[in-house]
Amino acid sequence: MILIGVDVGGTHTRVGAVDGAGRLLRTTRLLTPSGADGARLVALIARAFRKITEPSGESIDAVGLALPGLVDAKTGRLIRSVNLTNIEGNPIADALGVEIGLPVHLLTDIQAATWAEYGALDPRPGRFVHLRLGTGAGLCAVLNGQLEAQDPTRSTHHPLLVVDPAPTAAKCPCGLRGCLEGFVAAPALVARMSEHVGCGELRELQMHYDAGESFALAIIDLAGDALAVALENVSRTYDADVVSVGGGVIMALPSLLGRAVEAYGARLHADRSQKRSSIRAAQWGDDAGVMGAARLAARPLFDSTLVFGHT
Ligand SMILES: [Zn+2]
Repeated sequence: MILIGVDVGGTHTRVGAVDGAGRLLRTTRLLTPSGADGARLVALIARAFRKITEPSGESIDAVGLALPGLVDAKTGRLIRSVNLTNIEGNPIADALGVEIGLPVHLLTDIQAATWAEYGALDPRPGRFVHLRLGTGAGLCAVLNGQLEAQDPTRSTHHPLLVVDPAPTAAKCPCGLRGCLEGFVAAPALVARMSEHVGCGELRELQMHYDAGESFALAIIDLAGDALAVALENVSRTYDADVVSVGGGVIMALPSLLGRAVEAYGARLHADRSQKRSSIRAAQWGDDAGVMGAARLAARPLFDSTLVFGHT
């Protein structure tokens, strides 16, 4: 069995082949064209698909396409997306299916990553939540082996990701106040760093932190405390056995998760009635979306009317 996963990100699009045992056989990466319309994006993905599949001549069993935003899996359309506004409403799954001659199952990037991270655990936890921090912040759960269906009408961040309930908390672009995104997403962290050392990349913040520079310690303390609140919200509400945290922010800034786990532990110490979830770093890195999209495409789940949610 060969499954193909496609993960369209704001910067890069990845395409990968996965075998029936869940092994990632090969991947390719291309730049996601800025402002691309559906036809151009489909043509680029189809070219990458052929690059991945033609040399081996293997028959392909299923294709999963993960997009950043809110999608309608039933109609194969992207409903809303911060990064891909030009293809909102476009029947992109069908268009890609016609181009490559196979049905294409549509899902969101956070769902694909969540399924990949869940599948990487042995034994698999009964109640699993994945938090993903990159240019935004999102979460999804797998409860008793079932991927969580999310509210298709919600246009804001997940309410569990509100970490500052004060009425004066900073307003998030999603419309809520005090969202985790304002503390831990890459643009927020880079903006805080740039107040001290000019523009830079997120990895540089980790270097300043490792050098003990006080501004970096303060930024990561603030972000770690905010992430700890989200971890506590998620852990308590889902009664989670395992919460994994991944995405580009965690890859570039591993100290953030350590700091957040410390703060989460301190919060639970103050309230010993709460169950303590096992907090873990994600395992799949940049390939999570490809892996999860491929493996979810092989499941009949997407014949349902489930609509998957906002990241
Ligand atoms: Zn928000």
